Amino acid sequence: MNIILFGPPGAGKGTQADNISKNFNLHKISTGDLLRIEMERKTDLGKKIKSKMDHGMLVSDDIITNLISKILSAIKSVEGVIFDGYPRNLKQVKILDTLIKEHNRRISCVLSLDADKETLKKRILGRIICTKCGMTFNKNFNPPKEKTHDCGLNYLRLRSDDTEKTINNRIEIYANKTLPILDYYKDQKILHKIDASGEIDKIYDEIRGIITSLET
Ligand code: ADP
Repeated sequence: MNIILFGPPGAGKGTQADNISKNFNLHKISTGDLLRIEMERKTDLGKKIKSKMDHGMLVSDDIITNLISKILSAIKSVEGVIFDGYPRNLKQVKILDTLIKEHNRRISCVLSLDADKETLKKRILGRIICTKCGMTFNKNFNPPKEKTHDCGLNYLRLRSDDTEKTINNRIEIYANKTLPILDYYKDQKILHKIDASGEIDKIYDEIRGIITSLET
């Protein structure tokens, strides 16, 4: 099973992608996480993308395609994948279609999370990430605990793009560039919309129900 997880910044894609990946044994491919690793390691690619990322702008399609095709080639034996934050515009949708065919995979469903703008903003401004394992927390809604988070508390950071200044820009880019691609998946009858304004566990229950119904 191969799933695309879709949603504006702050909708909870990262958190739910981790839940889905763990419980359904799917390999998570998060373009945001991959790009942040490059920035953290200060690689040539990391230096090149930093300004775009910090301003909430999309990184070039060529860079993203390169990352995705390398991973898909490296995980040929892995049965299922969950894409988090990819594809993000129509060009990426077309490229993914080609890559998926080349790798003999099929997209089983697209889960689209959504919430109102105020909720998104609150979540983004409270977000904390672990730079060691990539897990996402929120200081208000889902704080990291030393006992349950194996990496400890030393790797926790705010994201450099989670600022009041970039939020509106990111939500706007999502509305203009990313949201229009939902129609493409709606036409294929694989789109599921999920209200992501509630609690993490409740949202996950709904997601689990949808995925389980596809498995049977
Ligand atoms: P969010 O959904 O909260 O914006 P992500 O971690 O998915 O968080 O993405 C963070 C940033 O990484 C984006 O603002 C963008 O700069 C870059 N990025 C992530 N995925 C893509 C993609 N598929 N195409 C282009 N840029 C991307």
